[in-house]
Amino acid sequence: MKKIVVIPGDGIGKEVMEAALLVLDALDLDFEYEFAEAGHECFQKYGDTIPEETIRLVKGADATLFGAVTTVPGEKSAIITLRRELDLFVNLRPVRSLPGVGGLFSGLDFVIVRENTEDLYVGLEEYTGDGAVAKRVITRRACKRICKFAFDYAVDEGFERVAAVHKANVLKKTDGIFREEFYKVARNYPGIKAEDFYVDAMAMYLIKKPREFEVIVTTNMFGDILSDEAAALVGGLGVAPSANIGKKHGIFEPVHGSAPKIAGKNIANPTAMILSTTLMLKHLKKKKEATLIEKALKKTLKKGIKTPDIGGKHTTTQVAQAIRDELIKIKDHD
Ligand code: ATP
Ligand code: MG
Repeated sequence: MKKIVVIPGDGIGKEVMEAALLVLDALDLDFEYEFAEAGHECFQKYGDTIPEETIRLVKGADATLFGAVTTVPGEKSAIITLRRELDLFVNLRPVRSLPGVGGLFSGLDFVIVRENTEDLYVGLEEYTGDGAVAKRVITRRACKRICKFAFDYAVDEGFERVAAVHKANVLKKTDGIFREEFYKVARNYPGIKAEDFYVDAMAMYLIKKPREFEVIVTTNMFGDILSDEAAALVGGLGVAPSANIGKKHGIFEPVHGSAPKIAGKNIANPTAMILSTTLMLKHLKKKKEATLIEKALKKTLKKGIKTPDIGGKHTTTQVAQAIRDELIKIKDHD
């Protein structure tokens, strides 16, 4: 029995989570779900965006599904707190083409592995006389573990190439260390081709020849930027899933936020959340079930059953129900 914590959160987070659970429920999974609160509504109720009780539940779970939360300036970010508390050092962003979602390319299947704990995001900024300075923190330990994750992921998923992205010609020390550690780790994976690219070149290649990439591993800020660029290649926010992974824990969430503008209308695209559940299933070694959901999703999209953001006219609930029906149909044939 696996314990799954479910944090629907705010706005469309709640709607896409309900949709995703409806789909998951069609599979005979040995999951026990536990609901927990976080986000802005939670803050209004308890004066805390991420209560101790939620952190405790997540720490005790096998995996966590996270919808989306509204982060109001001045309130603590729930997801950043969780990433830190659980030392979730990997941000995983698969980039895969789906039928009928208006992506710029078809046939894409690569993944961006972004380091999630250091770089310019450590918040070491200070004002100087005339301006300000931000410090970039890069450690060998963090570089090594993110690169090792990338190569292991390549092996697990049947990828044959891993590309490191950096700017070591300018950031000689910090990115120099990243590149060095990357090639040190690569030596343990002789079956995988290791190569490296400057980030500016990669920004261009993602548009010019994105089919050439399989696993891309990079530091925090470059990963942040490139993964949004990559999401646009395959249809944008409504269809982009992600995972935050540590040594033991994983939190699986759509890339989009709580989108208050469209909340409560039952028009949010549940695809990103549903694909996030497939990442969770793979993480829990349930590959077969993950593949079944992907198949059911693709069939549904091909039929034109989709939400308005990708040119459809169906509601969140109708899309989820259609995927569920498809899943029930195909799971008995597999
Ligand atoms: P937050 O402050 O929580 O990030 P936001 O308004 O910035 O909220 P995002 O999720 O970042 O919301 O999305 C920006 C816009 O993209 C939304 O207003 C919405 O139009 C669109 N969008 C995002 N996710 C979805 C989705 N799942 N389905 C449909 N449209 C979406
Ligand atoms: Mg946003």
